[in-house]
Amino acid sequence: MKAKLLPLAILFALTACGQTSRSQQVNNPTSQQADENICFADYFEDKTMRLDFYHCGNATEETYFFDELKEEPYFAGSYYALRDSFNYGNQRFVLLDKGTRREIYSFHYCTLWGEWQCTPEARTTSLGMPESVVFPYPKHDAIAQIWSRGNPHDPAVRKLHATQPWVLKFEYEIKAGNYFVRGFSPIYETQDIHVVGDPHTCLDIVLIPEGYTEGEREQFVRDCEYFASEFFRFEPWTSNEQRVNMRLVWAPSAESGVSIPAVGKWRNTAVKANYFTFDSERYQMTYDFQTVRDIAGHAPYDYIYILTNSDKYGGGGIYNFYGVGAGHDTHGTSGRVHVHEFGHQMLGLGDEYVEIGNTTSDQYDPAVEPWEANLTTKIDVSRKPWAQHPLPEDSLHGKSLPEGGGYLEHGIWRPYEHCLMNTLAYPFCPVCLQAVTDYLNYITR
Ligand SMILES: [Zn+2]
Repeated sequence: MKAKLLPLAILFALTACGQTSRSQQVNNPTSQQADENICFADYFEDKTMRLDFYHCGNATEETYFFDELKEEPYFAGSYYALRDSFNYGNQRFVLLDKGTRREIYSFHYCTLWGEWQCTPEARTTSLGMPESVVFPYPKHDAIAQIWSRGNPHDPAVRKLHATQPWVLKFEYEIKAGNYFVRGFSPIYETQDIHVVGDPHTCLDIVLIPEGYTEGEREQFVRDCEYFASEFFRFEPWTSNEQRVNMRLVWAPSAESGVSIPAVGKWRNTAVKANYFTFDSERYQMTYDFQTVRDIAGHAPYDYIYILTNSDKYGGGGIYNFYGVGAGHDTHGTSGRVHVHEFGHQMLGLGDEYVEIGNTTSDQYDPAVEPWEANLTTKIDVSRKPWAQHPLPEDSLHGKSLPEGGGYLEHGIWRPYEHCLMNTLAYPFCPVCLQAVTDYLNYITR
């Protein structure tokens, strides 16, 4: 995590801090085709179960504490994309049918806690963040598991990466008929922004307001409409407009505006987001993911994006977690920022930019192949699905790949010189475009 502010022209969001070789897939689901053998209706009801917990620890320890099970009314996922084999991310959630120990649902994700674990503070402090995962509501006894790749800065973990990336960190038995699963009581209104199809076969984005008061609903709706119009200006979203739904949940804040701790500005807001996360001015995030989920659950969603009542350059996006961006656009960049952040959020695309003078990254180790689809250390470039793409001549042999990415000047290469994951001035490069499209095809089938 870098505390310095990048130039406005360079995008800023930070993805997760772990890396591993894509060739090491121990304990991973076998293949996407295996989903065909799982009939959704045999195992699940068409609504969501949410598992709340606390993600705790420090630079070398990672622990989970159970909090609560909740029921949410909508399941927006595909009936057929039940087991994720993309192997992105630093965390892996698995649901096993208890009777057969069969994996019936899984996905990968990253967390803000995982980024915090790479900060200097984690070497001297232990900290817990409220987190949760959601999954289709199991009909029978099931076992929830959370696996982790661990902190890549821990020498023991780094060594482990070479042989077995996933470590089981948490297990919880879900009993069918447990009457302590908290029911859902809606308290917020929702509104369609762009709704074109069945949530089970569409990508569903829920937009959440941060720092908009009761009287600022119209402003929030305008900011949501702006988000949608900018989003669909970029491929692959332009040509997939009929596969994407967007809805808002109207959760007003007590006070207007955003919190900026370094200037003593605090606001009482819906999801408690602030700039200066990990001392990085532009990094606007919230530690309280459970409160974010409480709001999001009012609408069907696959992805949560928070729009903040601000035009201050900032935001962030974490893979399968949530995204944040300033709602107003006075610099002419917010729309591109949203699409960039969504690249992090949807499938964990890495930042392709360089922080000048940066020789040691908090998040990337040149000795380990990153799992991100768009970055390589050349340790295992052959495993990247780049062979399908019209890369510059010889680039697959590593001769002409542009060097620099993942904040590092040297030791990490990106597939193309220019990309939206690098600078705001460009669309996605062909590799990122293909990675997003592949992922979209998976989650909407
Ligand atoms: Zn790219």
